[in-house]
Amino acid sequence: MNKYDSSIIKTMLSKEKFEEVTSPEDADFILLNTCAVREHAEKRVIGRLNSLKNIKTKKPDTIVGVIGCMAKDIHNLIHHPTVDFLAPPDSYRNLANWMKSEKKGLIPEVKDEEYNDIIIENKKIGAYLSITRGCDYFCSYCIVPYTRGKIRSRPPDDIIKEAESLSSGGVREITLLGQNINAYRYKGIDFPEILKRVASIGGIKRLSFLTSHPEDIPSNLFSVMANSDNITNYLHLPLQSGSDRILKRMNRRYALRDYIDIISKAHKLMPDLTLTTDLIVGFPGEEEDDYQKTLTAVKEIGFDQAYMFAYSKRKRTLANLFPDQVEEALKKARLQRLIEVQNRITEEKVKHLLGRKMEVLVVGDAKRGGKLGKNSSGRIIIIKGVAKIGSLYIVRINDINGRVPIGVIKKEV
Ligand code: SAH
Ligand code: SF4
Repeated sequence: MNKYDSSIIKTMLSKEKFEEVTSPEDADFILLNTCAVREHAEKRVIGRLNSLKNIKTKKPDTIVGVIGCMAKDIHNLIHHPTVDFLAPPDSYRNLANWMKSEKKGLIPEVKDEEYNDIIIENKKIGAYLSITRGCDYFCSYCIVPYTRGKIRSRPPDDIIKEAESLSSGGVREITLLGQNINAYRYKGIDFPEILKRVASIGGIKRLSFLTSHPEDIPSNLFSVMANSDNITNYLHLPLQSGSDRILKRMNRRYALRDYIDIISKAHKLMPDLTLTTDLIVGFPGEEEDDYQKTLTAVKEIGFDQAYMFAYSKRKRTLANLFPDQVEEALKKARLQRLIEVQNRITEEKVKHLLGRKMEVLVVGDAKRGGKLGKNSSGRIIIIKGVAKIGSLYIVRINDINGRVPIGVIKKEV
C-alpha cells in the first residue's frame, strides 16, 4: 500500500513540476514513506532519519518530510532534528503546495480522502492499484484503523480508467490492493464484479489482489478466479493464529474450522492454488497450548509461504491494554521455531514443481542473471536464458535454488 501511495505522490508532484533525482544528496526534498504496523518498521525509519543528519549538515536547505502512518501516529516526530514536516496518509493532496510554501509542521488531512481522481503513472510491467482505502475491522493488535481511517471503496469507473491507462502504458501485471479487499462495495458492485471488470481489460496478463479476510470471502470469488485466464490462482489469506481462543481475543471473527472450510473450497476449484498467510505469535495471553495449535495448523494446512511476526505492542490498540503480555524472549523463541517449521514446508511445496511445465510471464531481471517471472498461480520463477520482459513463455522447472524454482524456456506463447 505504501508503494502504491508513493506512486500517487510521485504522480501528483510531477504534475507540479517536481523532478525525481537518483541520490538523496542531490535532492531539495527528501520524503520518507513510513509504516507503523510494527515497532521494527518504526525503528528502521528512526535509523534512516538519523543517517540523514549528515546530508542536512552539508546542505542545510534540504527539507525532510515524513509521510505515511508514522506521520499520523507519532506527532512528536516533528521534534526530531532532521524532520521538517509530517504528511499523514490522507494529506497528500496538500503536499505539493506545502512543499512550495510552508515547508514545516503537520500537513492537514482531507476528510474522507479517496484519491479517486488520481490516475497513477507507471512505466513498469507490474503495478499496484488500490481499490479501497482504510479499514474498520479493528483487529485488537492493529494500528491501521487508527492511521488510515475507515474503509472507503473507490468508484468502479476510476478503477477501470486507471487499469486501462496502466495497460496502455505497457503494464501487464496488476495487483489490486485493499487492507481488506473483499469488503469492496460501491453502489451494489462487489469485489468479484470489479475483479471481472479489470480482468477483461486487454493487455492484462496477470491480475492478483491483496489482502483477503476470512470473514468476508464472497461466495462466488473462487469460481470467478478459477474461470478466468488472467486472474492468478493466488490467495493471501491471513490466519493470524491457530487457536480459536486467541483469534477471539484478536477480534478476528472466525474459527480455525471456518478458515479450513474456506481454503478447501478454494482448493477444490483451483487445484494449483498458491496459498500464503500472515501469522502472529506471542499475542497477549498466548499459552504454550495456543502456540502449539498454530504450529499444528501450519503443518496441517501446508501454506506455500507465510509472513510471520512476533506480536508488537501498538499504542491506542485494545491489545496494548491486555495485562497478560508475553515476554520478549519467549515471543522471539516461538517465532524462530515457527519460521523453521514453515521454511521446511515451503521447501517441500516448491519441490512438487520440479519437472512441471507452466506458463510464465516475464516481469523483470533476476538479481543474479536470468529473468524473474510469475506463473498463473502468482509464484515467482527464475527463468534461465533470453526472454522478453512482458511476454509469456512455457517454462519447464528443472532446478530449485533455496526456495525458488528455476525454469528453462520451452517456447513463447
Ligand atoms: N489488512 C491486512 C494487513 C494488515 S498488516 C490484513 O488484515 O491481513 C499486515 C500483517 O501485519 C497482519 O496481517 C498481521 O499479521 C501483522 N500485524 C499487524 N499488526 C501487528 C502487530 N501489532 N504485531 C505483529 N504483527 C502485526
Ligand atoms: Fe488491521 Fe485487521 Fe484491518 Fe487487517 S483487517 S488492517 S489486521 S484491523
